[in-house]
Amino acid sequence: ALSLRGIHKSFGGNPILKGVSLDAEPGEFIALVGPSGCGKSTLLRILAGLETADGGEIKIANRDISTLKAAERNIAMVFQSYALYPHLTAAQNIAVPLVMRRLTRAERLPVIGSLIPGQRKTVADIKRDVRSMAASLKIDHLLDRKPGQMSGGQRQRVALGRAMVRQPAVFLMDEPLSNLDANLRVHARGEIVELHRRAGVPTLYVTHDQAEALSMADRVAVMIGGALLQLSPPRVIYDDPQHIEVAKFIGQPR
Ligand code: ATP
Ligand code: MG
Repeated sequence: ALSLRGIHKSFGGNPILKGVSLDAEPGEFIALVGPSGCGKSTLLRILAGLETADGGEIKIANRDISTLKAAERNIAMVFQSYALYPHLTAAQNIAVPLVMRRLTRAERLPVIGSLIPGQRKTVADIKRDVRSMAASLKIDHLLDRKPGQMSGGQRQRVALGRAMVRQPAVFLMDEPLSNLDANLRVHARGEIVELHRRAGVPTLYVTHDQAEALSMADRVAVMIGGALLQLSPPRVIYDDPQHIEVAKFIGQPR
């Protein structure tokens, strides 16, 4: 399980996160919603180790990970811009986290380009992992293409594959579908929920799309002005908002 206690963060003297606490069960999918600028991305970046909190505690399975570097946290993050490596094929993109893990820093760069020489662990292992990931995302036929030769939806799947392939302990997604058109988005919702179910790890999913939050999440976390005001099942958020700010935010047409 994932546990946050009293996460604080200021930028230039402005408090952005004002003591965020949250517990996610092992297989739980939590949608994080809130007005633009309320601190959603900042919270995810702190969890992923891309940003340092001013105070607070982050635990995975009861182990404090706050002092670990991003690469050591075993947390996967998917962004709105998928940030795939443009010069690598889909297969190579998905393999990157596996390769990174097995090589020292000095060995990495030349290997990412080719994925062949200098492997300590077998290339066959990596290929097998990539293939099974690709099969579950139905992108087997795209493995030799580069990002420039794929649609937005296909790139999004490759990015998901890259995030999931090393079996993370926590999965973070920051508006991963917002670049897709409406049809693809609805379709991709189901795929993400399915991936999540199979991985069985706590997932924090930031979205601006309330329909998405309500249809996908076990619980919805509403953050306003750097504070988590309510964390409840979707129906409860609607039927029984605990704060006037939550009611106002959820009631807004978007
Ligand atoms: P959105 O829904 O628009 O993505 P958000 O909830 O993800 O918004 P954040 O990106 O977390 O919001 O930003 C929260 C606040 O912190 C904003 O006011 C933003 O301008 C500020 N902020 C974020 N990162 C930095 C930074 N590196 N330096 C200074 N201010 C920052
Ligand atoms: Mg954001």
